[in-house]
Amino acid sequence: MPPNGTGDDTADDTDPDLATEFERLSLPLADPFTIARGTTETAENVLVRVSDGTHEGVGAAAPSTYYGETPATVEAVLPTLLGVVEDVGDPHARQRIDRGLRERVGRNPAARAAVDTALADLAAKRLGVPLYRQWGLDPAAAPVSSFSIGMAEPDETRRRAERAVAEGYSVLKVKLGADRTAERLAAVREGAPDATVRVDANAAWTPAEAVSKSDILADHGVEFVEQPVPADDVAGLRRVRDQGAVPVAADESVETAADAARVADAVDIVVAKLQKCGSLRETRRVAEVAHAHGCEAMIGCMVASNATIAASAHLAPLFDYADLDGSLLLDSDPFRGVPMPGGAIDLAAIGRSGTGAVERS
Ligand SMILES: [Mg+2]
Repeated sequence: MPPNGTGDDTADDTDPDLATEFERLSLPLADPFTIARGTTETAENVLVRVSDGTHEGVGAAAPSTYYGETPATVEAVLPTLLGVVEDVGDPHARQRIDRGLRERVGRNPAARAAVDTALADLAAKRLGVPLYRQWGLDPAAAPVSSFSIGMAEPDETRRRAERAVAEGYSVLKVKLGADRTAERLAAVREGAPDATVRVDANAAWTPAEAVSKSDILADHGVEFVEQPVPADDVAGLRRVRDQGAVPVAADESVETAADAARVADAVDIVVAKLQKCGSLRETRRVAEVAHAHGCEAMIGCMVASNATIAASAHLAPLFDYADLDGSLLLDSDPFRGVPMPGGAIDLAAIGRSGTGAVERS
C-alpha cells in the first residue's frame, strides 16, 4: 500500500474479485427477553462476509418468524443473493447489485439486509471512511438509544431498571403485555424515577384497551407507546392516537417505506428497522417518508450482533429516536460495534473504517 493510503486500496475502475461466505451465529442473551409474543433466550443470526482480498465487509441477518423468516430461510436464499454480488463483483456498484437482488429475491428482507450491510461495510472500508461520512451525516445528530426492559416479575423489573440507570442509561423502553400495566410501570419508576420511559405493547391490546391504558402510561410519564394494537389495524392506531393520552408509534405495522406512507396519518412516530426493510437505503427511506408526512421516526433493531446493529447506528442521525440496544442484550457478542455508553451513540469513536463492526479476537 502506498504511504499516503489513497492508492490502489481505494475504489478504481477495476472490478475486484469478491469472495463471499456465510455462517450461523447462535447468540445467548444475558437474560431471557420476554415481550407480549413470547420469550427469546438465544438470538439466531446469520453472518455474511464479503471480501475483496484486502478488506472484508460484514453484515448479519437477524430473522424474525413474525416477519416470515428463519435462519433456514436466510441460509436458503443467501447463495442466490451472494451469487449476484459475485457476478457484479464491485461493492461500489450498488445500483446494479440492488437491481439484481430485487430481481432474484423479492422478499427475505433479513437475508438481503445481511448482504446489503456487508457490501456497505466493505465499500466504506475501501474508501477509508466510516459509513456515516460516506452519507454525509452529522454524528452529533444521533439521538440517544433506549435500553430495553423485557417483561418480568415486578421485583425483577425494578432491579433491571435500577441496573440500567446505574449503567448510565437515561432512556428505557419497557415491554408490556396484556395485563399488569400499572404494576409493571410502578416497578420501573421505582428503579428509574428520572429516566425517560417509552413502552412497547407489541400489538397486544385492543384499541379500547389501549385508550384506557394510556391514562396509566401518562400517569407514569411515558413518552410514547409503540404498537399498542395489531399490525393491520391502522384505524385502531388512529383511534389510540386521537383518543389516548400519549403519542403513538407504529412498528409492526411498518415494514417498508410504502407502509410508512400508509400509516403516517394515523400515528405520531414510525419505526424503521434494517431487518424489516432489507437494506440501509430502504431504512433511510422510511425516515424520509415519515418526515415528509409530518411524522417523527425511530430507528430500531432486533436482538442481534453488532455485525448488523453497527450499520444501523450510522443511520441514527436521520432519526428522532433510537432503539439500538440489540447487541447490549446479548451475553456476549463476537463483534464490537459503534460504542453506545449509556445509550449515547458515539459514531466518531470508530475511526475511518466502514460500519465499525470488528470481530473480537
Ligand atoms: Mg417494537
